[in-house]
Amino acid sequence: MALMTGKQYRESLNDGREVFIDGEKVTNVAEHPSFKPIVDVKARMYDMAHEPENKDKLTTRLEDGEVVSRAYKAPKTKEDLTAIRNHVETVLDDLGGVVYRVGDETIGEMWSLYDAQDKLNEINPTYAKNIANHIDRVAREDLFHVSANTDPKGDRSKLFSGKDGGTLLHVVEENDKGIVVKGAKFETAAAYAHQAFVKPTILNWEAGEETMAPFACGFIADMGAPGLKHICRTSLGTGKNDTDYPISTKFEEIDTLLIFDNVLIPWENVLFHRSLASAAYIRSTLHRYSAFNYVLRVLRRADYLLGTALLNVEQTGLTKLQAVREKISQLINYREGINAHLTAAVANAEVSPGGLMMPNQSLLYTGRVFALSNFPAMAHLTRELVGGQLAVTPDSDTFADLAIQEYVDKYYSVGEWSAKERGKLLYFARDLLNSSYAGHRTTFELFAQSPPFAQQMSVFNSFDMEAQREMVRKAAELKPTVPVTNL
Ligand SMILES: Cc1cc2nc3c(=O)[nH]c(=O)nc-3n(C[C@H](O)[C@H](O)[C@H](O)COP(=O)(O)OP(=O)(O)OC[C@H]3O[C@@H](n4cnc5c(N)ncnc54)[C@H](O)[C@@H]3O)c2cc1C
Repeated sequence: MALMTGKQYRESLNDGREVFIDGEKVTNVAEHPSFKPIVDVKARMYDMAHEPENKDKLTTRLEDGEVVSRAYKAPKTKEDLTAIRNHVETVLDDLGGVVYRVGDETIGEMWSLYDAQDKLNEINPTYAKNIANHIDRVAREDLFHVSANTDPKGDRSKLFSGKDGGTLLHVVEENDKGIVVKGAKFETAAAYAHQAFVKPTILNWEAGEETMAPFACGFIADMGAPGLKHICRTSLGTGKNDTDYPISTKFEEIDTLLIFDNVLIPWENVLFHRSLASAAYIRSTLHRYSAFNYVLRVLRRADYLLGTALLNVEQTGLTKLQAVREKISQLINYREGINAHLTAAVANAEVSPGGLMMPNQSLLYTGRVFALSNFPAMAHLTRELVGGQLAVTPDSDTFADLAIQEYVDKYYSVGEWSAKERGKLLYFARDLLNSSYAGHRTTFELFAQSPPFAQQMSVFNSFDMEAQREMVRKAAELKPTVPVTNL
């Protein structure tokens, strides 16, 4: 099958899926006001791949010559990783904003599982075959693929031991057609995606016992499968004026509580099952590739912070002040710090256990922590530089009221900037930093690729500490024979 068009994508969502939002059952996802803006974004991405000026950057060929999305071909060289970065940047440039869960950012989770083929073959050879088939299928059918990790976990204290799965998603039946699963997952974009890679949540899987086996499953779920119910949170952009809220009206990505009410997963979609080792493995390697695409988005968010702060202080003449320039420099340091991690992660990329090319893991994971842990402070610095007008400015309808025009012009125009243009920049800044959507994004960035403690564990586990041990052993003249123990 060829690359999908935007039209085909919109039509593909009419597959009988059950979607609920704001007390309503949605009959046409693509046309519903809560979903239409983000469906249009994804449709635009599909159409872009067909345009002569974009197709070199957005497409590539599989070994047999089939043309597929650049985002969906597993990387085998450093040039492939650079091409993935170009893909993300080309799409975000065209869209003029940042979207995360639009397919490319989650596909790498399946490549991580592909890297475990040898382990999967030991458990059951059909699992390794299934994952290879699915990686191929997503590319050839140009499917919109999302990620399902997090269950509504209930009483966490029961889960700490890794010996009790509580209400986590689990297998309730096995039959000749496949496994039947029950449970729920939180999942951004599920309501307008084609499929999800569902896998166990963060848990102490290493300590898991046989009773945990039904919870240790990974599979591909089609988003229109019978028994699936998409219960969606309210859109933060719907009904808003796009001049006042230029970001949330275009780029709002809807999160779903996805209910699996005895859903049959055919055997060809089962990637592992009753395998505690596979659950532990996928939890420790999940973001090996996908963190790259994710951090590229945070880089773009840093660009928007910097651009917003800069234009504001230039409008208001504050750039003349040394103290303001220092603050702008902090934003540049932040932006370039992320850029440096991503660039170095490709330059020092490593061959994965499955023979793919993965971004340097230590540089990627430290880059992710650097980008995310500094984000709130950098957003706050931008808020400070924009100043209080960020929060007190009247909306565009009020600005346009002729009865008060002279006051709006007098107090909002600055230098060459008309009051209208000044207002537009302030509305953009508000939607970037202060709106409901902006707050939601901050929480998304905190949690979307696992919570901060798990991100720090990825740093701990991916850094080769032997060089530092050896330096201190040598400098302190310690005996080399004392064994190293991991916690
Ligand atoms: C906007 C948004 C979008 C999301 N999209 C997706 C998605 O597309 N797919 C998906 O699967 N999930 C998604 N998530 C879920 C996200 O992955 C989880 O929220 C995240 O993993 C944290 O899990 P939790 O919310 O259950 O927090 P909890 O497990 O309740 O943890 C809360 C806090 O308790 C502490 N804590 C818990 N356990 C430990 C521990 N073992 N060690 C140390 N501290 C601990 C930490 O401070 C942690 O942040 C999304 C979340 C948000 C907010």
